[in-house]
Amino acid sequence: MHHIYLDYAATTPIDKRVGKAMNPFFIYKKGLFGNPGSLHTFGQKALSAMDEARKRVAKTLTANHSEIVFTSSATEASNLVIRGVVEVFSKKGEVIPKIVTSSIEHPAVLETIQTLKKEGKIKAHYCSVSEEGIVDVNEVRDALDETTILVSIMWANNETGTIQPIDKIVDAVRTFRESRDGVYPLIHSDAVQAFSTQDINVVRTQVDFLTLSAHKLYGPKGVGILYCADNVSQKNLITPFITGGGQEDGMRSGTENVAGIVGSSYAVQYCADEREKETKRMRALTDSLYQSLVKEIKVEINGSQKQRTSHILNLFVPGHDTLGTALDVAGVAVSSGSACAQRRAKLSYVLGAMGCDEQRIRHSIRVSVGRYTTQKEIDRATQQIIMIVRNKTKGTDIWCPDKATQS
Ligand code: PLP
Repeated sequence: MHHIYLDYAATTPIDKRVGKAMNPFFIYKKGLFGNPGSLHTFGQKALSAMDEARKRVAKTLTANHSEIVFTSSATEASNLVIRGVVEVFSKKGEVIPKIVTSSIEHPAVLETIQTLKKEGKIKAHYCSVSEEGIVDVNEVRDALDETTILVSIMWANNETGTIQPIDKIVDAVRTFRESRDGVYPLIHSDAVQAFSTQDINVVRTQVDFLTLSAHKLYGPKGVGILYCADNVSQKNLITPFITGGGQEDGMRSGTENVAGIVGSSYAVQYCADEREKETKRMRALTDSLYQSLVKEIKVEINGSQKQRTSHILNLFVPGHDTLGTALDVAGVAVSSGSACAQRRAKLSYVLGAMGCDEQRIRHSIRVSVGRYTTQKEIDRATQQIIMIVRNKTKGTDIWCPDKATQS
């Protein structure tokens, strides 16, 4: 049986073209495996490939190549921003700084802020979200004060796909900043789930920091990309937390993952080049899934129907708390929350923040499509969902391992 993958928000397979671009960097005979820090030809070839990769990424974001930092993950990139900005400010020892964020950020942001808060290094304001999962710009604006050094609001949420009004948030923060010292608060956005469908351009949306993850964009796992505005590094408003050989212009020590970086740069470029077409195609797939389901069973969207990234659909299917497991047994892989949340078997705090009760959260799944999803797969997944829900209603859900052991 062909297993259908509908969990592209958790990770994506590597695009063949990306794999091909990476391959020579593993092979001795190609002479590209050198350490980019070495002065000989092997090292310099690797360095030059990395320089090209940096330029390739910068171009898609309309950034300067000096503004791109490669890390081991988006999690590390967000840690670098949050810890690095706090560290610089704290050295001045003036006041306890404040970070303004939202209650639906990925754990890469939320846990880092929570840790610093527990250590007494920061205060935090967690902006609430509407029923659709949207942050209120006014709440962000109202939370800003003279101690606020960083605002971190994600571009699109990983569980619901809801897109945040990031341009308006940036405007509000910049207006506040300009009315004060012109330096703080800095603005960070986790754009990991947004990049594949949103035209992200740092000249148009003037964030100071942006994080991306290659493995959500058909690139390799283990590569994160940080956009850090020249203005911020030139003014020394951020300091690294991984120290050592001073790679990545001192921002992130450790021998660079050259193959991964080169592959990621192509992954980013292909995503940007094919974004418009893919966004429409994925929207048609997720819309078709929802519309077919709604005709046959009771189902509702968690999050915004309109303001969502086209590849993610979070569905409340009443009456079925093990739909994710049942679908997997039936050959369809979906998620019952974010990958991290699943590992810890916690209830989704994102849906919780949107006002969903425990029952609704337990009865919700996340479906996410991608470059290799076909209409045929969506049709089969739709049929499976309908069949499982109908069998459950009739009380014939003998396929479900969880229920079988319970009864
Ligand atoms: N931010 C968001 C919105 C994500 O969805 C993820 C991954 O699930 C991350 C950050 C973390 O990315 P990485 O796996 O590269 O650390």
